[in-house]
Amino acid sequence: MIIKDSLDEVKKRENALSIIKDIVENNGRESLFDLTGLSGGFIATPSELSLLETYVGPAIFEDALQEVGIAHMGGEKVIPLNRTSSGILATILTLVKKDTNVVHYLAQLPAHPSIPRSCSLVGANYFETDVFEEFSIPENTSLVVITGSTMDHKVIDEEEFKKIIEMAHEKDIPVMVDDASGARLRTVVFNQARACDLGADIAITSTDKLMPGPRGGLMAGQADLINSIKVKVNQFGLEAQPPAVLAMVNGIKNFNADNLVNSFERKDELFNLLNQKFENFQKTPTGVMITPEGLALEINVSHNLSDNDLAFVFSLILLKNYGIITIPAVGMPGASATLRFDLSTQDAFNLNLKDLSLKIESSFEELLEVIPNEDECKKIIFNF
Ligand SMILES: *Cc1c(COP(=O)(O)O)cnc(C)c1O
Repeated sequence: MIIKDSLDEVKKRENALSIIKDIVENNGRESLFDLTGLSGGFIATPSELSLLETYVGPAIFEDALQEVGIAHMGGEKVIPLNRTSSGILATILTLVKKDTNVVHYLAQLPAHPSIPRSCSLVGANYFETDVFEEFSIPENTSLVVITGSTMDHKVIDEEEFKKIIEMAHEKDIPVMVDDASGARLRTVVFNQARACDLGADIAITSTDKLMPGPRGGLMAGQADLINSIKVKVNQFGLEAQPPAVLAMVNGIKNFNADNLVNSFERKDELFNLLNQKFENFQKTPTGVMITPEGLALEINVSHNLSDNDLAFVFSLILLKNYGIITIPAVGMPGASATLRFDLSTQDAFNLNLKDLSLKIESSFEELLEVIPNEDECKKIIFNF
């Protein structure tokens, strides 16, 4: 096994970022193809940029964000956060006491690691399931969590969503929805209602997932609850800073639902091309993906790598050879090692899908060549 812990993941990520820097410096940004579905855009005019001061910025842009944020998320009030994970942490710090229970339902395991990590920080007991029939709310539960769309873009059934909220509210327990990508994927592609409209007390989305905004989180909900969470947010420095808030406002304003719908249609073509060669690619709502386990099944040469290591090496080969960015190369520690090729963001619009599938095939051939040699794989992942 090559990647053993979070520190290894940090080193892997640093290597990936230095490859990206080299590509930008030597060949230009147009030689990179960010297919992560996280665009990290920063849309701003010069006059807006000139207002970015510590106290003037929030006065202007946080006010603008209330309007566009509530229109996007529902609820009565929003707070901009440094990341979705920050919002999850702040909510759990506010609502969850030591030794109480937190129960989480999602369409498919695993949950985003920020949820169990935050629970463990406050000393709560955490339970999660992706089997609806097995979901129950025990005595002494302080928070019910629902994930709207998982890290691999598996979307919850709306009827189950409503029933979980109902079960929680019967017992007066608040519901937090991790709607990182779901706030757009669920609503636009699956025609579901916004989490707050379904009765969620708190919903958090990621402002760079499937929209042209910065890495950040946006939390919405009922005003009193938002206010008490905001205290923790400010106490622990979890809030988004003015530049990010400005970019969130413009990211939401520039969110184009048609891009999501187009990628929903285009993914079939890519899936069919890859299916001629591979057996374990799956469709996502806006692209295709292969899990580490699926990737391992494609491989018939002998090697000692873990499934996740295979995904990391594959992702770094795609980056190095073709400038194709996928999450296993650049993700934060604990992020899913599934390779997702998302067609919903800018870099994918003009991509020739036949060409993309050939690049994926040729990177896979290189993966087959290197995996018997663990040192060679380490070199690809860490560059040492
Ligand atoms: C991406 C994601 C998160 C975390 O978002 P960050 O902005 O990286 O903190 C949480 N939950 C889900 C389901 C996600 O997909």
